[in-house]
Amino acid sequence: MSRIIYLDGKYVPEEEATVSVFDHGVLYGDGVFEGIRAYNGRIFRCEEHIDRLYNAAKAIMLEIPLTKKEMTEVLLETCRKNDLKDGYVRLVVTRGKGDLGLNPKSCKVATVFCIAGSITLYPDEMYTKGMPIITAVQRRNKATIVDPQVKSLNYLNNILAKIEANRAGVPEALMLNHDGIVAECTGDNIFIVKDNVIYTPPIHVGILDGITRSTVIELARKMGYIVEEKEFTLFNVYSADECFLTGTAAEAIPVTSVDERIIGDGVAGKVTTEILAAFKAYANENGTEIF
Ligand code: PMP
Repeated sequence: MSRIIYLDGKYVPEEEATVSVFDHGVLYGDGVFEGIRAYNGRIFRCEEHIDRLYNAAKAIMLEIPLTKKEMTEVLLETCRKNDLKDGYVRLVVTRGKGDLGLNPKSCKVATVFCIAGSITLYPDEMYTKGMPIITAVQRRNKATIVDPQVKSLNYLNNILAKIEANRAGVPEALMLNHDGIVAECTGDNIFIVKDNVIYTPPIHVGILDGITRSTVIELARKMGYIVEEKEFTLFNVYSADECFLTGTAAEAIPVTSVDERIIGDGVAGKVTTEILAAFKAYANENGTEIF
């Protein structure tokens, strides 16, 4: 069945949802996006995603031709048109159609589209058994160059690290920042657990301020855990009791080996399993109603 896509003010069948080859999103990766989840007929952390999209657009001086309220309605209506109660929604805003030069001045209006569908990043059994990852040679973009907090259409930095993961035969790669401090994975934030304390890198090391990350921090604290946003190195990852990744698509997934070092007992840890269950329960009960 063909999906219905929102594109520049219209809801059109997937086959008709095309953008120009002169769109600077295509030519230069000039644009921003969000990946959002629907659980049980509700958009999870809707306002936070919309805010992050608009903040990213502001950082790159990209004017979005819709108010936040209108954008939220686009998101909800695209889900309704596709009868999507559980799934993954992609909101994209590009600089729009321009000429061949990189100057955004040639782009008169931003292109906006919304796709409601599904996403599977990692095989199901990895949520119970855990997954192996590697550390990429590729370092995460320095925040003083292109800040990873801007969820831009230029994902080459992460894609290069993902290629390293592919070559190593594992599903995900960990990226360090320029100083060798643990930053994040190609599409997920990272957490480690040591002596029952949960650690995650602070935003200033150069990571995306993940919405799942902040939800997990909040939930873990409510569950009575100490959570510290603290810089750490690969040594701390290798010697952790548990490690897990968080992201909109991934939720919370256990990592059981990093660079062939077994983490903890080499199984999905107790804290990770508890957090994943709490996250799923929370996501199923909270959010903006679609219908
Ligand atoms: N880091 C990167 C580089 C990402 O692309 C993402 C989103 N897929 C995340 C972290 C996780 O962020 P969120 O929880 O908001 O999806």
